[in-house]
Amino acid sequence: MHTESESDTHLSESPNKVVDKLHRPLRDLRVSVTDRCNFRCVYCMPKSVFNKDYQFLPRAELLSYEEIIKIIKEAASFGVSKIRLTGGEPLVRNDLEKLIEWIAQVDGINDISLTTNATLLSTRRARSLRDAGLQRLNVSLDAIDDETFKRVNDVGIGVQSVLDGIENASLAGFESIKVNMVVKKGLNDHSILPMAQFFHGTGQILRFIEFMDVGSTNAWDLSHVVTSREIADLINGTLPIKPIEANYRGEVAKRWQYVDGGGEIGIITSVSEPFCGDCSRARLSATGSIYTCLFASSGVDLRPVLRNQDTGALNQELKRIWSTREDRYSETRTQVSVIRPKVEMSFIGG
Ligand code: SAM
Ligand code: SF4
Ligand code: SF4
Repeated sequence: MHTESESDTHLSESPNKVVDKLHRPLRDLRVSVTDRCNFRCVYCMPKSVFNKDYQFLPRAELLSYEEIIKIIKEAASFGVSKIRLTGGEPLVRNDLEKLIEWIAQVDGINDISLTTNATLLSTRRARSLRDAGLQRLNVSLDAIDDETFKRVNDVGIGVQSVLDGIENASLAGFESIKVNMVVKKGLNDHSILPMAQFFHGTGQILRFIEFMDVGSTNAWDLSHVVTSREIADLINGTLPIKPIEANYRGEVAKRWQYVDGGGEIGIITSVSEPFCGDCSRARLSATGSIYTCLFASSGVDLRPVLRNQDTGALNQELKRIWSTREDRYSETRTQVSVIRPKVEMSFIGG
């Protein structure tokens, strides 16, 4: 697994080191490869908005893999060592293996992961992704019973197709497979304990994510959030857990270990205990815009500099973007009185 010391080594070796206005380095780049998805999760791509009239991006507007690699190379020169591929559903994009192979060859990149709903993870696909150099997988699964899961994904897909994807990934030998569950009160909070019980003792780390106010289409309200404390108390009542140390500084999940040796869980406390102070992530949209915060209203379009013949232009633009960054939305969300538009999760991928 990727460790803090590996990132630090790369960062200290990086001649181009850049920090933002709050002294945070750039280490981690999330790359969205598509805005399309085969699910319509009610908290992410509600059918009321993402229906047959919704205009998804035309293919020609997506960055090509060559363009994505150019950006990744430049980001690596600033100290980025981790790349996470996301979407939409990243596995709906063809030939992702080619992109992964290219990323694996970029100097300085030592951690390549993918976030997926796993329904397209056949035995063959899992193996080809692994062979291409993909190291880690985060699989999203929001309930362990079909009725709740279908209510969440809203396309009638049952739990078994995700469990099959996880099994195929296990057989393909990924370095780690984590399962992420977004918890929304009234939608799937009754699944917290059944999910914990299901993954207890399997070696797969289950992580609970507090429902976040990303985007503008999911009708978020603070009353929909089940806090990290509530989640931990609920699990602890049946399967006793104790807190354990983070793997590295800036790890987004708070770690808990089952007292009986059944493994660990994580809770991502983005709402109740924000972690902006250590946030070293930038996000690249499928159309080539860089977002320096998950809750940003707008990004910076890199396409003009990408297509510029001056090879230094992209480098300078990335440096400018990161060095002027001062985002810390989650630490200020309760003080922000003006409601402004925010980018959709399905556009920049979480
Ligand atoms: N389609 C892939 C998947 O679902 O894993 C990748 C993209 S999806 C946008 C990435 C992650 O964001 C998923 O784990 C999803 O559950 C999470 N997510 C989406 N909307 C969210 C919200 N409002 N709050 C918290 N997590 C959210
Ligand atoms: Fe698709 Fe992932 Fe959003 Fe669900 S969370 S709609 S699977 S992009
Ligand atoms: Fe990073 Fe923005 Fe999330 Fe804070 S709110 S942790 S700055 S992405």
